Amino acid sequence: MQSYLKNPLFKTLSTCADELGMECYVIGGFVRDIFLKRPSNDIDVVVVGSGITMAEQVKKALGKQANLAVFKNFGTAQIKYKDTEIELVGARRESYTRGSRKPIVEDGTLQDDQNRRDFTINALAICLNQDRYGALLDPFGGITDIENKIIRTPLDPDITFSDDPLRMLRCIRFATQLHFHIEDKTYQSLITNKERIKIVSIERIVEELNKIIKSPKPSIGFILLKKTGLLALILPEIDALSGVETINGKSHKDVFYHTLEVLDKLATKTDNVWLRWAALFHDVGKPATKRFDKKIGWTFHNHNYIGERMLTHIFKRLKLPMGEQMRYVQKIVTLHMRPIALVEEEITDSAVRRLLFEAGDDIDDLMILCEADITSKNEAKAQRHLQNLQIVRQKLKDIEQKDHVRNFQPPIDGKEIMELFNLPPCAEVGTLKTAIKDAILDGIIPNEYDAAYSFMMQKAKEMGLS
Ligand code: ATP
Ligand code: MG
Repeated sequence: MQSYLKNPLFKTLSTCADELGMECYVIGGFVRDIFLKRPSNDIDVVVVGSGITMAEQVKKALGKQANLAVFKNFGTAQIKYKDTEIELVGARRESYTRGSRKPIVEDGTLQDDQNRRDFTINALAICLNQDRYGALLDPFGGITDIENKIIRTPLDPDITFSDDPLRMLRCIRFATQLHFHIEDKTYQSLITNKERIKIVSIERIVEELNKIIKSPKPSIGFILLKKTGLLALILPEIDALSGVETINGKSHKDVFYHTLEVLDKLATKTDNVWLRWAALFHDVGKPATKRFDKKIGWTFHNHNYIGERMLTHIFKRLKLPMGEQMRYVQKIVTLHMRPIALVEEEITDSAVRRLLFEAGDDIDDLMILCEADITSKNEAKAQRHLQNLQIVRQKLKDIEQKDHVRNFQPPIDGKEIMELFNLPPCAEVGTLKTAIKDAILDGIIPNEYDAAYSFMMQKAKEMGLS
């Protein structure tokens, strides 16, 4: 065990605690991650006594290179030393009131402090005092649970989850990140207490959703959220994707499971968290646009545009960044069917140029989503689609090399048009601008000033402007 405490800082902590005559432990996620072999530089330390006094002693011992921050209101302190962050706090006992996840806090023993931890695997502590240096305190069988890959609460899960319902999301998040199984009673309690999630702030909910989305296999978390009923409460639009309807013997696919398959596949290709959010939302407009047509079966016309519009409300509610990031996700959602549609119609140069122009620098991300979006169970069909997308990729490359339309700005802008024709800002200016842009994208004229100028003059004549 002692060999796990490799960081020389543990010796410093040990000496300081003994000087102060305080019991001192490293506790929580850091200890769990030792056993999971997930090295971390965030160390949580609990002392029986004042965490701030302990932190001041440690600062003295480490000298100038250490940065101390004290949070008097919370009775906690933080030390930053080289690349390590140590949180120091006094052992505490907590009691909760029904309307809030903020506990009433009193000083307590190590045992009290372990009791307030959310899961057995998060309640492990290692003693740092010289006389018991390296001793593991595992009152709830956390090590066995790590070995068996099980998540369970140390005490009655109904109390643990009802006290602080954020723990329900942490539970599902750990199951997703670590690929662990949620023990039965703990799982049942997620269902029983799901409504309690309503007292948790949206910021904390989204923090956990982000951690699920960033995991290697996000579907684990979303399936758990769905089955426990939590998804309907926090992301009703994604919950609504689930289910299959059949009319005249024709069924559509379950869009919820399709979405998760897309998200998992995409997660193997990219760590871009916003692209992952885009995958989660790519078909969010389907329930609202679903129709049954006697001749062609199920349709979801314009579900990409409806999805794009829904995102404004969703981002606002989730307090996700509504600037650049939202516009990126919206763009990917709007365009997600375009590359496949290109193949189905005809891959003309002009269609490729338009796609390049609209996607701009996000074209590669869009193609990653399109490829992940192919989830056909028919292997031959899936292969055919993938090959077609390869052709689109090649074509995109060729056209971009030739025409440079990816980030193109039309060579004549609105201001110049206004000056040339002595026009105030008006509809005609827009018409001319669009005509020039379309002519370039359609390959009628090259992307050059002189060609654009003659084209514009011709067009202006037709419009009676000159
Ligand atoms: P990660 O750092 O990967 O998010 P973690 O378990 O280390 O996971 P932290 O938020 O860093 O999570 O918290 C450190 C420790 O504090 C946890 O391991 C756990 O013992 C305890 N803890 C954190 N949040 C809660 C909570 N809501 N309820 C009970 N204990 C908690
Ligand atoms: Mg942590």
